[in-house]
Amino acid sequence: MSKKAAQKAAKKAEKELRQAAALAAAAAEEEEIDPLADKYGDTKLEDLQSKAVTGRKWTEISELGTDLEGSTVLVRGRVHSKRAKGKMAFLVLRETIHTVQCVVSMENVGSKQFVKYASLLSKESVVDVTGNVSNPRNPVSGTTQPVEIQVTELHCISKSTNELPLLLEDAARSDQDIEKAAKEGIQYARVLQDTRLNNRVLDLRIPANQAIFTVQSEISSLFHDFLRANKFRQIHTPKLIAGASEGGSAVFKLQYANDQPACLAQSPQLHKQMAICGDFRRVFEIGPVFRAEKSFTHRHLCEFIGLDFEMEIKEHYFEIIDLIGKLFIYVFNELNKNCKKELETINSQYPFEPLQYLDETLVLAFAEGIQMLKEAGFETDPLGDLDTETERRLGLLVKERYKTDFYILHRYPLAVRPFYTMPAVDDPKYSNSFDVFIRGEEIISGAQRVHDKDLLLKRIEECNIDPNAIGLQNYINSFSYGAPPHGGIGVGLERVAMLFCNLDNIRKASLFPRDPNRLAP
Ligand code: ATP
Repeated sequence: MSKKAAQKAAKKAEKELRQAAALAAAAAEEEEIDPLADKYGDTKLEDLQSKAVTGRKWTEISELGTDLEGSTVLVRGRVHSKRAKGKMAFLVLRETIHTVQCVVSMENVGSKQFVKYASLLSKESVVDVTGNVSNPRNPVSGTTQPVEIQVTELHCISKSTNELPLLLEDAARSDQDIEKAAKEGIQYARVLQDTRLNNRVLDLRIPANQAIFTVQSEISSLFHDFLRANKFRQIHTPKLIAGASEGGSAVFKLQYANDQPACLAQSPQLHKQMAICGDFRRVFEIGPVFRAEKSFTHRHLCEFIGLDFEMEIKEHYFEIIDLIGKLFIYVFNELNKNCKKELETINSQYPFEPLQYLDETLVLAFAEGIQMLKEAGFETDPLGDLDTETERRLGLLVKERYKTDFYILHRYPLAVRPFYTMPAVDDPKYSNSFDVFIRGEEIISGAQRVHDKDLLLKRIEECNIDPNAIGLQNYINSFSYGAPPHGGIGVGLERVAMLFCNLDNIRKASLFPRDPNRLAP
């Protein structure tokens, strides 16, 4: 062997020795039993199978304020973000829309492995943290809570994969921020609607979505509470029915027992009226409504939540209109009061102007609406329906003149309303019906209904509907035994949530939306 070759071989051997020593040291460190090991690590599944009731006291992240400074808390949250710096790891923990910074430092935990464990946790994992609440010297930026937790114990109870199909920080960014960054040369990923909806469990975790569904929940609770306080009884009508409830083709057909044809209810219309015939006097329902419509619009779903009510009237359908005004002013006022934080959160991702509405709801006649459109240069058929674009135009004209985003248009032409709508007494070309609008889009349809059997049969014939159709006979017969004058409304919950917050698409206000192209997740 030449001298040069011998030197090279010696160097190589030395290098291999060094590498082996380093590996052995690392392995020893790994194997070294950390005396603090019970203070951190992955919780075993069996410990989460309702093994014991320990009585430990938990604190919500939202409750972490400066008043808790110095106290020891136990919190559960998701790893929202993490950062390692020298001998420290910083975890931001999230619980719905609330976030807090947790500091894992050698000084507090006294174990290098503990800090390493914290820094290796995958984002979105669920962890339990014990620690002391401290007031940071410099205010923490980017968290909702003003304090920090100096961690003393950290356990992961459910790990998330590292391969997230979307990043929450991308999904939570507003279009404005994306565009602003682009001008500064920073390209952020835009998460498209299909990606969001395909991965809805992740998408739902972003603050705006948390807030939207709190608002949605609040709307249905307020609807419920107001009607209960006004002597309405909650009912549950069948969703499996023998014939179409609204007529037309937009019905999901299915095979019922014994090969009977059936369909999913397009509304609780017929049964809520039958409840009135059963002397229920004032009823409401909150339940799913199915429409097999092929409309690929920003405001139609194949399944939505219907908020319906039906009530006896003494003499005029204005009794219903009056109640709608009171009900919705109550809903809007309470939303503005109870959901301040949520509305701000939605606003920061999807900016919108707060809903403008009057204390006394504006009620306009359909003919007045047509006249306003005409004066503004838009000719429309005075006995036809308003299409979406015309409704929007009228909404803008109304807003300009009356300073409201919320109004009621009544006395629609009879020809554009369903067969069960009561014709107007003075002119049968019109009807005792109405639609209600938010920001120029329909949220409610309502009317006085025909309670007289002979008139009902006449209207059914005029509308070319088969009175012997299965399902319809029972409904018609309900009026044979006397029925009080009555009327009611159908509201789409997702529409109200969407339009109150001026969202651009109803899918944003539907938890797991169903449309002609989407039946999952
Ligand atoms: P549109 O004209 O908007 O299609 P519609 O006249 O068919 O609505 P109705 O059958 O009267 O509506 O239903 C009452 C309410 O139910 C509507 O005002 C709306 O809020 C809601 N709604 C109706 N269809 C849908 C749908 N496909 N998706 C979501 N909400 C709907």
